[in-house]
Amino acid sequence: MHRRAFLTGVTAGVVAGAATLEGSTQQAAPPTARDVGGLTAPMFRPLPVGAITPSGWLRRQLQIQADGLTGHLDEFWPDVARSQWFGGTAEGWERAPYWLDGAIPLAWQLGHTGMQQRITRYVDHIVTHQRADGWYGPYPIDAVAKRYDMWAILLANKVLAQYHEATGDARVLDAVVKSLRAMATGLDRTPLYDWGRFRWFEGLIPAFHAYEHTHEPWLLDLARKLRTQGVDYARLFAQEDMAIPTPRRGLWTWTKHVVNLAMATKASALSWRLDQRPRERAFAVEMIAFLDRHHGQVNGMFSGDECLSGRNPLQGTELCAVVEFMYSLEHLFSVFGDLSFADRLERVAFNALPAAISPDGWSHQYDQQANQVQCTINPEHGWSTNGPESNLFGLEPNYGCCTANMHQGWPKLVSHLWMRSPDDGLVSAAWAPCQVRATVRDVPVTLTVETDYPFREVLRIVVEPTRPVRFPLHLRVPAWATHATIRVGEGVASPMTPGALHRVEREWTGKQTLTLRFPMRGVVSSRHHDAVSVERGPLVYVLRIGEQWTRVNADKPHRELPHGDFEVRPTTPWNYGLVVDDAAAERALRFEERPVGEQPFSPEGAGVIATARGQRIPDWKIQRGWAGELSVPERTWSDPARPISTEPLEDVTLLPYGCTNIRITEFPRLGRA
Ligand SMILES: [Zn+2]
Repeated sequence: MHRRAFLTGVTAGVVAGAATLEGSTQQAAPPTARDVGGLTAPMFRPLPVGAITPSGWLRRQLQIQADGLTGHLDEFWPDVARSQWFGGTAEGWERAPYWLDGAIPLAWQLGHTGMQQRITRYVDHIVTHQRADGWYGPYPIDAVAKRYDMWAILLANKVLAQYHEATGDARVLDAVVKSLRAMATGLDRTPLYDWGRFRWFEGLIPAFHAYEHTHEPWLLDLARKLRTQGVDYARLFAQEDMAIPTPRRGLWTWTKHVVNLAMATKASALSWRLDQRPRERAFAVEMIAFLDRHHGQVNGMFSGDECLSGRNPLQGTELCAVVEFMYSLEHLFSVFGDLSFADRLERVAFNALPAAISPDGWSHQYDQQANQVQCTINPEHGWSTNGPESNLFGLEPNYGCCTANMHQGWPKLVSHLWMRSPDDGLVSAAWAPCQVRATVRDVPVTLTVETDYPFREVLRIVVEPTRPVRFPLHLRVPAWATHATIRVGEGVASPMTPGALHRVEREWTGKQTLTLRFPMRGVVSSRHHDAVSVERGPLVYVLRIGEQWTRVNADKPHRELPHGDFEVRPTTPWNYGLVVDDAAAERALRFEERPVGEQPFSPEGAGVIATARGQRIPDWKIQRGWAGELSVPERTWSDPARPISTEPLEDVTLLPYGCTNIRITEFPRLGRA
């Protein structure tokens, strides 16, 4: 959607004056919805960190983080606790900034004063130890003589910009500006290379933040310099064969690195804000479609363990890629306003994100698999470039980047649930229970979303301005939600168009309620090697498998409970095929609502379960420590003349993907129901 088209399409009257933001009065004054100097405004402007707070199951999910690894990593994990960024002697590169990137929004959204105080202490240390020349403490003294990869500084400034947004602390904005100025000259001396060259666009986030507060033109020159020195992803995808999966134990490459690519899906959106090159809007869509076509997984991600590895459901996806792709989708929706990015965001957030993190928030996987029937230390693994511990649930399985970086997933989703629209209203990006506090057309407004979505079809929105005010709400109707309806107050239900924004403009007074219903229908999709997957609304449904957790690596440093390492093995059969009819999936599937648990993304806490008809396939066995390949030479699963199983048909239970720790997601197709 083009910004101008949006405005002419939805604005009845003249756009009123610049909207200002409420929430905490300490928040940094936000830019308006309009362009600032030479920088094009995003279609939808995110609200500052802290303006949206989670409620319902989403609040429980964030509390699990605060009580788990996110809230405690800085107390015991050396790479954060003793980071050089905070005055220690451990790692001084990406890990502490990564942790802050999630811990900052979490602490301010929960109003967690303990975390806020610790974070403030850490940020104070960074700011007060910045050198007079603008470089931060961990930057080596001899970096002028030697090459220095700029990635960690791009990241740190992005994180500090977020802190400035949450707190309004002007010293932190000054520090970011000083650092960016040092970078502007440093890049002439040492152009970007390695991580910095592949992740150059991350530097545009703090540069734009600083520009919108200071209007200093050199900041946009810096953004252009980063773009010039960085990788041109459109050219990369045109030149290199990105379709080819990295072979088992293959060669690690920068270009097929899944985290780089998940981050880079937003590169063209950031670049577009500089000069509105139409090609970049198109490329954002094309790049994701390409990754889906060749590496797509039904959980909303593309594979990468840790380089792109095809559509096979046995290949893994690194957790860093999951949280980075979510942030990219939030950015893409904000800048371009295309609803497909928001649909996709929900798909990743409600499936791939929770699946890779244990229900109690204390352990995570490096790589998750769609067909993952056991997670063990596995020397026979088939990852492309990762090691034998990559699907363990643990403190730092395979490598510690995800341990530091995973925290941003849920809090940044909260930050982006609602945004400002260019006609001075509010637009919903993703649906989840929350409360929004914003000043709209000079009137403080509270908007509350009460729902157990995505485990339920009904959402209640309560709008409560402090005095009567007229403004539009733009309500996103997911593309799958055919027969969606809206009811204003106790009025009659009227239809909404799927895959569109539904506009409700009125004078809001007192406390008014909207009730939305997004009917969810079970659907079956065709996957790798003609396997089938079950979806309903934004959730993917997978086989429930009994699980046994066994502690391992207890003698390794920092694995004291509750942050230990665990193998997970199946205690019930997993080798089922499904009897499905693509055209009438509903007839073969039964969905049943359950209370959403204290741990919403746990097998016991699943808010919906499903029943399907299945049949065990005795020939389908564990091979090399994983579920065997889905293809059987010389016969296909679905050949009715040569059935692959003569076992009795039975009911099997399916759970939402994100509620499981081991699972079958892509099932052999056994024929028609
Ligand atoms: Zn990682």
